[in-house]
This record gives sequence, structure tokens and C-alpha cells, in this order.
Amino acid sequence: MAFDFRITHIDGRARRGLLKTPHGEVQTPAFLPVGTQGAVKGITHRDLEGLGTEILLANTYHLYLRPGSDAIARRGGLHRFIGWLRPILTDSGGYQVFSLAARRSIDEEGAHFKSHLDGSSHLLTPEKAVDIQAQLGSDIAMVLDECLAYPADVEAARTSMERTLRWAGRSRDRFHSLNTSANRVTVTNPGQAQFGIVQGGVHPGLREMSARQTVAIGFEAFAIGGLSVGEPVDVMYDIVGHTTTFLPNDRLRYLMGTGTPGDLVESVARGIDLFDCVLPTRNARNGQLFTSEGRLNIKNARYAEDDRPPDPACTCYTCRTASRAYLRHLFLAGEINAATLNTLHNLNFYLDTMRRIREAIAFGRFESFRLAFHQSFSRRPTDS
Ligand SMILES: [Zn+2]
Repeated sequence: MAFDFRITHIDGRARRGLLKTPHGEVQTPAFLPVGTQGAVKGITHRDLEGLGTEILLANTYHLYLRPGSDAIARRGGLHRFIGWLRPILTDSGGYQVFSLAARRSIDEEGAHFKSHLDGSSHLLTPEKAVDIQAQLGSDIAMVLDECLAYPADVEAARTSMERTLRWAGRSRDRFHSLNTSANRVTVTNPGQAQFGIVQGGVHPGLREMSARQTVAIGFEAFAIGGLSVGEPVDVMYDIVGHTTTFLPNDRLRYLMGTGTPGDLVESVARGIDLFDCVLPTRNARNGQLFTSEGRLNIKNARYAEDDRPPDPACTCYTCRTASRAYLRHLFLAGEINAATLNTLHNLNFYLDTMRRIREAIAFGRFESFRLAFHQSFSRRPTDS
């Protein structure tokens, strides 16, 4: 099956659609659990499938350094290596270079960095990011972009955005030449698609310029990067709503690295189709549960003898079988099942929220869903 995206319903600016990839279909708007090392921390692929997960994100930086993209290509690609046969999206590795690597420096060629694992030296160029993802064989590959720290003034953001555009052109050229005879890179998924990334910080003019020129290069779809990096949430929503107006209506739109449940609803309202974020899984391991009535911190003493499930409105395995008192005990005891049970619930909450969003769009009642969601989710004062 080749890459394809069709919008099936429109409600205001919110869209419901169907994404087709070589490894199956994804109903959008969709949320991608983050499988950093080829696994979502705390739970098995079996549980992810049980939750109805249709697509995973894997981190190129981590897999390139360990076990190595050559080794994964020799195993037949990432799907076969990790035993997940549904769609996978890989990032370019750039974000982790900027956030994790020791001693990194950026120039026109690419990102020079030292591995955070063993100090070895590496150069991640736009071409190298394409090659590594071709070896991994994800269904969706991302271009290498420059990740700017927030806040950045307009001149710094412009310089960075323009470099990202030049890198996007090089990435697309490399992607198109992957299947030529001169290419010596193992391509484990010939049906892979490549997404461009719009940058430009919090500057609307730069976002428009970046969107127009990234679209002109021509990618299967487009992502918005460089948000959720510390800017106020209403600024993020404004930039998302502004940027999507310059993206083609018939192409999928991916908001990278975002966000809270409220962010998902607000970004769908501004025309976003795809999300990824570590929040549900990372917060689960820290004892924070997302529920239909807001956030719940299971460490809190008030739950010591609370026999209710974490979220009475939830039907996940955790909520069917575990009380708040039990989950609090597991967390305080450092029991590994605390992470597993909390992660199961949080991912179910995120995936179920996306299901309800898709249903609301299909029935033309997204606005009433949006209103009810915010009223319900903000009912409980955050207790963490
Ligand atoms: Zn639950």
C-alpha cells in the first residue's frame, strides 16, 4: 500500500481523515505514543495494540547510536526488528542532537556532536538523516531541521529558518535519489514518505515564509516544529492556527512534540491531524494520571485509602482492576508495575480522547465536544 491521505469529514477547521501507509491505515486526528528506543517505556507492543494504537514514533538519534541503523537494516528494518508491524514515524534525530548530545555545533553542513553514550564523534547532515531513516524503514521520515532555543529574536529565528529550508531542499533531493543505482544505502521500506517541517519560532511572518517555501519544495505532508519549547500556550495556539492557513488543505499536518490533552483539542480546532508527545508516558512513570476530570497525582496522601479507580469514566485495564490506593502503594514501593499500569491508563486516555475527537468531527459537533472537554478536564484543580 502506498502513502495516501484523504480527508473524510470537515467541521469548522477540524478535519477527520484516513492516512494510508505501507504498514496499514491510521485514522486521523491521531496521537503517536513515543517509542524512543523501539519500545514505548513501561508497556509491551501487545498492550499498545490492545489500546488500539495505530502508529508509533521512534527516535532516530537513539536507534542510530544504539544498536545502529546498519544493524537494524540487516534485520530487515525497524518493523521487523522490534516486532511492530503497524505504521511507524521516525524523527530526524535533530531534536535529540540539540537536547541530549554533548558538545554539539551546527554549521551549514549539519550537526556535529558527541554521543551521550560513549562520547564518540558524529556528523548528522540532512542527507545522513534521510539515509538512516531509509535503513530503519519507517513509513514516515522527517527532514533534519534546526531546533532553535526559545526565546529567539526575529533575526536569529530567520537565520535558523532559512538554514532549515536549505536543509529541506537537500533532504528532498537525497530522498528522491535513494532508489537510484548510485545509492548504496539499504532501503528497507520503499513506500516510505517524507514530511517537511515548518520553522520560524513565534514570528508569524517567518512561519508564513517557511510554510510557503517548504510547501514549494514538495513533500508528502508537512509538520510544524519548534513549538512547545517554553512559549506561552496562547502564543503556541496562535502560531499553529496561523501556520495551518499556509499549508495545503489536502495534505496531512503534524504538530511535533505536543502536548497536553487540551493542546490536542485546541490544535485539532486549528487544523492539525497528527501529534506525538512523551507527556502521557513520562508523566505516568512520575505518578501523574490524566483523567476525564483533570490531572491526578497518585503520590498524594489523599489517595491512601481511596478505593475508586483512577478515572471512573475510563474502561482501561488499569481502571477496571486497580484502585487509587493500590496504584499509590505500587508507586511508593517503587514497583515496576506502577509504571506499566499508569502508562496503560494515560495512553488509553490520550487515544480515547482522539477517538472522541474523530467521532465529534464526523457528527459535526466538534465545537460542543471542545467546550465540554475543557469544562470536564479543568474540573479538578491540578493536585501535583
Ligand atoms: Zn483508565
